[in-house]
Amino acid sequence: MATYVPDVKTQRWVIIAPGRKFRPNESDLGSVAPQVSLRGTKGCPFCAGNEKATPPEVYRIGIGESNAVGWQVRVVPNLYPITDTHEVIIHSPDDQKDIEDLPVAQVTRILTAYRDRYRAHDADGQVLIFCNHGLAAGASLKHPHAQLVVIPRQINLDALYREPVANVVEDNTYFYTYCPDFSQWPFEVWIAPKVEGSKFGDTEGEKLSDLAGVLQRALIKIRLAQRKGLVHSVHDKDVFVYNYYIYHGTNWYIRITPRFIHRAGFELGTGLSVNVVDPKEAARVLKAVSVS
Ligand SMILES: [Zn+2]
Repeated sequence: MATYVPDVKTQRWVIIAPGRKFRPNESDLGSVAPQVSLRGTKGCPFCAGNEKATPPEVYRIGIGESNAVGWQVRVVPNLYPITDTHEVIIHSPDDQKDIEDLPVAQVTRILTAYRDRYRAHDADGQVLIFCNHGLAAGASLKHPHAQLVVIPRQINLDALYREPVANVVEDNTYFYTYCPDFSQWPFEVWIAPKVEGSKFGDTEGEKLSDLAGVLQRALIKIRLAQRKGLVHSVHDKDVFVYNYYIYHGTNWYIRITPRFIHRAGFELGTGLSVNVVDPKEAARVLKAVSVS
């Protein structure tokens, strides 16, 4: 059970979630579900064939029976929840490939699952969907996945409202991809629908498949910029680490934060972000790298 602890003075909240410390990591997968023998890559609980190693699924795209192979996207409750509703959205049966390498049709399925689960919980609270890609971004299992949490409405979220469109990287039919003037991270990229006033859960049809391509291209461009050495990163050129999240409310956006830097004492002590790359320059670089 998660406990919400208020700091009355600042209107901020902390979640105390002691169960989280028991979650598995790559070197300790045996603790996931000791009674189950895991067949997938290094015994990964998210691989096809290991469906019994997770709590029973709540959603799937694909053929076959629940909790058996055949799925293309699978959603299960998180065994180690931060909040009372906390789901894991497994991006595909593939243990390695994420958004930037999967077929765009699969990325559309992933976004369809996000959208459907958003709708399933929209009445229950504030629905946040986020992805930690790479161990250094906070993922505890490398099998590509996203997470969905529901936070009670009475809890104030310290989330950013949608930033004005500036420094456009891609101008698509329905979406802008851009680097806001107010970017806290180097090469931070936002994707926002051109039409204002909607929530992510409203996204349908052609817009959803369009968004799949837009999101994939944004990630590929950031990765390419890193591989070509156009970005200074604390990680090796081929270690791509990022987070993204989808804003929970009206005027939604997707915010991608590549982890090219570490945050440190100055930021912790001041609440100020130091961004060493001008967003105008980031947009120029990203626009120039071509996705073939
Ligand atoms: Zn796996």
